[in-house]
Amino acid sequence: MTDCTYCGAPVEPHDPVYVDELVDGERTTTGRFCNYACLTATSRRPG
Ligand SMILES: [Zn+2]
Repeated sequence: MTDCTYCGAPVEPHDPVYVDELVDGERTTTGRFCNYACLTATSRRPG
């Protein structure tokens, strides 16, 4: 079970959204969200 990065709810029962970023040249999942609203709520990132 994976928890939403924003609200902590399990993402699997919902419509999970995963955020992949290049970290040191490697594709890494840096965020997982139970829905799109949680994704946009945390869209602000440093840089
Ligand atoms: Zn959420």
